[in-house]
Amino acid sequence: MQFIDLAAQQAHMKDALDRRIQTVLAHGRYIMGPEVAELEQALAHFCGARHAITCANGTDALEMALAALGVAPGDAVFVPSFTFASTAEVVPGTGAVPYFVDVSASTFNIDVQSLDRTIAAAKRDGLRAAAVIPVDLFGLPADYDAISEIASAHGLHVLADAAQSFGASYKERSAGTLGDLTTSSFFPAKPLGCYGDGGVVFTDNDGWAELIRSYRVHGKGREKYDNVRLGRNSRLDTLQAAILLEKLAHFPKEIDARQRIADIYTDALAETVTVPRVPDACGSVWAQYTLRLQSRDQRDTVRERLKEDGIPTEVYYPKPLHRQGAFNGHRGDPEGLPVSEELSETVLALPMHPYLSNDDQQRVIDALKSSLP
Ligand SMILES: *Cc1c(COP(=O)(O)O)cnc(C)c1O
Repeated sequence: MQFIDLAAQQAHMKDALDRRIQTVLAHGRYIMGPEVAELEQALAHFCGARHAITCANGTDALEMALAALGVAPGDAVFVPSFTFASTAEVVPGTGAVPYFVDVSASTFNIDVQSLDRTIAAAKRDGLRAAAVIPVDLFGLPADYDAISEIASAHGLHVLADAAQSFGASYKERSAGTLGDLTTSSFFPAKPLGCYGDGGVVFTDNDGWAELIRSYRVHGKGREKYDNVRLGRNSRLDTLQAAILLEKLAHFPKEIDARQRIADIYTDALAETVTVPRVPDACGSVWAQYTLRLQSRDQRDTVRERLKEDGIPTEVYYPKPLHRQGAFNGHRGDPEGLPVSEELSETVLALPMHPYLSNDDQQRVIDALKSSLP
């Protein structure tokens, strides 16, 4: 059994993928070929954003979005501690200081009270509160209404890190449209993944979109050899765009399958362990199905027992970012980040992908139940 079975997905669409790849090999426009623009239109249409600007990976997408916002030295940027490293890693490069915010135990997403306290702390430190980067962890959108209210009260921009949540929804709106700018990733294991690295920035703002289109090609102006600002090389390969176009066509059905599988886990396990909860009016895309156990000991024992039964599990994330060496001397919520710390000791992610068979899923459920008292 695979934790995320990309081979099963590939078998499902192999012929169509081969045709898409052959088309690129035939036209030979490997950089910014026609598939890139076609994909950008399809992605924007899928989520309802005005602009989708593809790029080399989800981390570059975050970096270019921060640059478009003009985040600079003297600024504070607020990030959850319970997330993947990229979310915070991109901040120091702008000269701004990342401030770590705690998360809610029930949604794994940014806790708005902690955000409020942390903004006040940054202001006391003499910094300008510039932006917040909510993460839609494990595929569930953060509470954007509550975040936007705080953000507008303090003049903060909202940069949504939707690396795990493209395809999710929040109150009739889709991930991709929930922040002033939204980024996502096409890393192979994400809900919509390519066969390499890839990323995208979404925005409705024409000015930011133009800046990001320039950053991704060396700060180009009207023409390629007209460098009007400092940029970088962060284009999505045409081959990856072709693969994504095919995968996007299957994506709505895959989202339904993920939801069906999540429902089966929840029905079977809700009385045994703490299962993930999706707030009303939200739709998760179930990048991960993450349980909480009662203690680190219990989590590690269950994980070991499942492993003996040939069932792969993962711990996302074993260490909150404010405990990582890279962020030594971090700043953050003055009351501490107890929830991020506890979650890193007690979470366990189960096999989750749209091609998980009923039999395999039942094996996971049975093994999990028998591993607990
Ligand atoms: C995967 C991920 C990223 C980074 O995406 P890459 O394409 O790997 O650079 C950023 N933020 C979160 C929350 C992620 O899960």
